[in-house]
Amino acid sequence: MSITGIKGMNDILPGEVETWRFLENEARRVFETFGFSEIRVPVVEKTELFLRSIGETTDIVEKEMYTFTDKGGNSISLRPEGTAPVVRSFIQNKLHALDPVAKLYYMGPMYRYERPQKGRYRQFHQIGAEVLGLESPKIDAQVLFMLVRFFEAVDIGDVELQINSLGCPECRPGYRAALVEFLAERLDRLCEDCRRRFGANPMRVLDCKVPGCAETTIGAPSVIESLCSVCGDHFSEVRGLIGDLGLSYAVNPRMVRGLDYYTKTAFEMVTGSIGAQNAVAAGGRYDGLVRELGGPPIPGIGFAMGVERLILLREGQQIAPPRLPLFIASLGEEASREAFLYMSRLQRLGIRAEMDYEGKSLKSQMRRAGKLGARFVLILGEEEVSRKKAPLRDMDEGTQEEISLEDADLRIAERL
Ligand code: ATP
Ligand code: MG
Repeated sequence: MSITGIKGMNDILPGEVETWRFLENEARRVFETFGFSEIRVPVVEKTELFLRSIGETTDIVEKEMYTFTDKGGNSISLRPEGTAPVVRSFIQNKLHALDPVAKLYYMGPMYRYERPQKGRYRQFHQIGAEVLGLESPKIDAQVLFMLVRFFEAVDIGDVELQINSLGCPECRPGYRAALVEFLAERLDRLCEDCRRRFGANPMRVLDCKVPGCAETTIGAPSVIESLCSVCGDHFSEVRGLIGDLGLSYAVNPRMVRGLDYYTKTAFEMVTGSIGAQNAVAAGGRYDGLVRELGGPPIPGIGFAMGVERLILLREGQQIAPPRLPLFIASLGEEASREAFLYMSRLQRLGIRAEMDYEGKSLKSQMRRAGKLGARFVLILGEEEVSRKKAPLRDMDEGTQEEISLEDADLRIAERL
């Protein structure tokens, strides 16, 4: 029996990869316009990094992490997200000493042991960005603007920007107490997970996807109404700025995000069109995280987008592979050698060309040229080689002209 890949971990095949590269290239282009630089961090980290940053009572840490003991007896985990490794690297490499503001982006695979379904996999890919060192609401607005610019650049329109504020260590405890009081009276109507969350992480109850829980928590106290003046002002300032930029958005006071490290601004890009997996991008401010991980008290804000979900949203808009400019058909061994040399000359010029290697019939070579979508076909026989002139067929126009083989590479290059 042949060996298959691991459940929930997908191959990205030719024909699909063009769309991936398009999304990655657009992210690079847009993010670099906003002054971000790429950072690449390992796919495995010490487990402790994720326990301390994401939080021990989150779904990711409780149930989704791929954690192993290595041969040295250390607990290591495949990264379930990118922020913690980037912040770890920022602290370890003292990037704050080089520049008080770091704008970083990353892309790559993440791992979560989840139940695979449409838009939810065990290896999936994120493109994310982080800003470290700025507290101003202007940077929240810049990050949101950049996110929206990216969605415009990749032509995904069916998304809504939702924002919320999660408060800070000043005001969150008060909110948490009010929420606990509200939930305590309704505990018997919550799912088992939520009853557990109630003790450890009550805000996560608002995020529960179980319909009964969503219904039970209608009318729960709103986090926005209990913000302290600092968080309240920050939130109004962010809203004012993104309003000035013309971004449309909705305030969603129930959006609490699954990770413990968020403070103040939180946001998601939400869609109605890929079923239950409705968040395509998510992020927020994390002013306490750098310190929590042993660095100086440096604020941060960032987001991550799920590439597989971006692709689902672009369904039907696949990026076509680049077209083959030239196929060289040949008849007879001498012509085939000549075809080989021509093909190599074109490749040296940076022009892709293909040929038949196996002495197939002209008919079969023309069929292959058609299948590869060749723009031109150069047809070489013994006679053409000795005359140093050969027909070049324009496959789109259905026309044919004779060109000199001396400078055929240049003639072809100028037609492309
Ligand atoms: P969800 O609520 O769908 O589980 P999440 O809150 O766990 O999402 P984040 O940790 O915020 O997701 O990750 C950011 C983005 O990464 C998500 O918006 C989504 O697009 C993508 N993502 C997260 N988990 C998966 C997964 N298992 N498969 C594919 N994409 C994922
Ligand atoms: Mg999740």
